[in-house]
Formats: sequence, C-alpha cells, structure tokens
Amino acid sequence: MNKAVFLDRDGVINKELGRYCENVDEFEILEDVGLAIKVLKEAGFLVIIISNQGGIAKGLYTEADVNQMHDKLCQHTSKFGASIDDFYFCPHHDSISRCLCRKPNSLMIEKAMATYNIDPSQSYMIGDGKRDIEAAQKAGVKGILIESNSGILEICKQIASE
Ligand SMILES: [Mg+2]
Ligand SMILES: [Zn+2]
Repeated sequence: MNKAVFLDRDGVINKELGRYCENVDEFEILEDVGLAIKVLKEAGFLVIIISNQGGIAKGLYTEADVNQMHDKLCQHTSKFGASIDDFYFCPHHDSISRCLCRKPNSLMIEKAMATYNIDPSQSYMIGDGKRDIEAAQKAGVKGILIESNSGILEICKQIASE
C-alpha cells in the first residue's frame, strides 16, 4: 500500500486571503511550498490536494479558474523537481446545495485512498481549519492543524523523518 500527505489548499499552499481566491492572479503560492513537496516526495509520500471550493457553487469563479490555479502550482513545484499527484476539490456549498464531499466530510480523502491504494494509518492531512482535521479523523488519517499562511516546510521535514 501507499502512504500519502493530503494538503488543504488555501492557507496551506497559497495565501489565505480571508475571502475566496477567485482567479489565478490572486493565487499567491507561499514560501517553501515547492521544497516542502519535494521533501515529501523524496520520502515516498503521494501528495494530494483536498480542497473546498464553494465559491464555484456561489458563482464567484469557475472550475476552469481553479484548474488554472492548479496549473500554476504544478509549474511552481516542477521547478523544484517535485510534483503533486492529484487534486480533489468540492465545488459545492451548503448555502446552495448539500453534498457528501465538502469537508468536514471525508469523501474526497476516501476517494483518493481508494484510487491510489493508500494506507490511512501511514498518512497525514495538513490543514488550517478544524474541518480539515475533522475530515482527516473520519478518514482515519492523522490530522495536523497549522496556522493559516504559516508554511509547511518544517512539518513536512518532520513527517519525512518519522
Ligand atoms: Mg484552508
Ligand atoms: Zn461537494
């Protein structure tokens, strides 16, 4: 089986703006993200983004905008010789319609675990919100709560050395 580090996006990978990140120009990648992902990949982890993007349901931006942001991130990580294995995002929002994927539900993590044959007991979820940690617990992976925009390099080094 494989092991993985699941990463929330806003506040973990890119700067949390305190509002929705609506286009690629607002998608500001935090310092050391490329290096942090390289550290995880070298330690044999799959790296998978698990993100709520309720702004899509609200009509603030589209899936195409989100894909542009993710392309920007892939270009960034490739400069460090690292890559992200997959992206899962929930385009729904409770104010528009209910779904099973939006965190704190764990469906996105569970789908990824089934697709990539991931062992939850060897895996982690890093997020800056309580709902990230709740989703992690429901899926049986270790949740690590960080402060928004605080950077993940040290935590990733620690995970890689365990
Ligand atoms: Mg977040
Ligand atoms: Zn959803």
